[in-house]
Amino acid sequence: ESMFEGLSGRLSGVFDKLTRRSSLTEADVDEAMREVRVALLDADVALPVVKRFIAQVKEEAIGQQVIRSVTPGQMVVKIVHDALVAMLAGDGDAEPDPMMLGIDIAHTPPVPILMVGLQGSGKTTSSAKIGLRIKTRERKKVLLASLDVYRPAAQQQLAILGEQTGIDTLPIVVGQMPVAIAERAMKEARAGGYDVVILDTAGRLHIDEVLMAEVAAVRELVRPHETLLVTDAMTGQDAVTIASEFNEKVGITGIVLTRVDGDSRGGAALSMRAVTGVPVKLMGIGEKMEDLDAFHPQRVAGRILD
Ligand code: GDP
Repeated sequence: ESMFEGLSGRLSGVFDKLTRRSSLTEADVDEAMREVRVALLDADVALPVVKRFIAQVKEEAIGQQVIRSVTPGQMVVKIVHDALVAMLAGDGDAEPDPMMLGIDIAHTPPVPILMVGLQGSGKTTSSAKIGLRIKTRERKKVLLASLDVYRPAAQQQLAILGEQTGIDTLPIVVGQMPVAIAERAMKEARAGGYDVVILDTAGRLHIDEVLMAEVAAVRELVRPHETLLVTDAMTGQDAVTIASEFNEKVGITGIVLTRVDGDSRGGAALSMRAVTGVPVKLMGIGEKMEDLDAFHPQRVAGRILD
């Protein structure tokens, strides 16, 4: 992912200086942390997350008496690495199983997965990508259903992606409303022996009460095992705000971050977990149906500190 390159370069600069020296003073560590702070803020990481991060690193650096160790610079880098993983993973998040992509489908079928998010975030694309993954890697029978009755051709768009990926889509019934479509999708899934039903809900340009109430009603009806919020990494700081609002009003179990292949500054990916308490589970890394990856906190931290 090109997204962390800028941040990664900045941090290398800071840490190269530290690791090249055989001894460090507390002032050196302070100075380095000031530079790390600016680098994180420039990468669009949310301010409260940056503050907590820096405080944690400083506390540990002092607690572990870094400046008296034989390799003080390396110790600082290790502390920063661990703090980054903690920021990305939160307490007790499991590393995603590469097969399952961190999505929970081990339940009595048909297992509903609800996709929510703003219009243009990549919801429909991600629905099909996730469906394809579950179909090919898990060998499960997947049904895709679009509940987007507002955007012209939204349902057709999902049908086209279904054809491309060889995944069944719920037949379109003109004039049917989202809750009724969701009900029909679940009925069809039970009758057709489907393992997983992916419900792609309507997005709006902005968060509004009507959208939230509708998504909440669908959620109440189908009781999904996963409610995945799709957000665009390019929206930067706004992505965090969007995630917080969706989590408050609808309740989400995971985040799919799209356009990680674009030139966003990475801050959304880095702050989302810490601000919302909801794990980033998946990343969209391109427009093709295969362009989906699990989000591995360890791997991401490693890449940033490369
Ligand atoms: P929706 O309105 O939320 O359903 O958004 P769409 O799924 O229609 O996606 C909008 C556009 O973003 C489409 O052109 C997608 O091909 C593109 N897109 C979605 N995910 C990604 C991604 O991870 N990377 C890139 N480069 N493009 C993406």
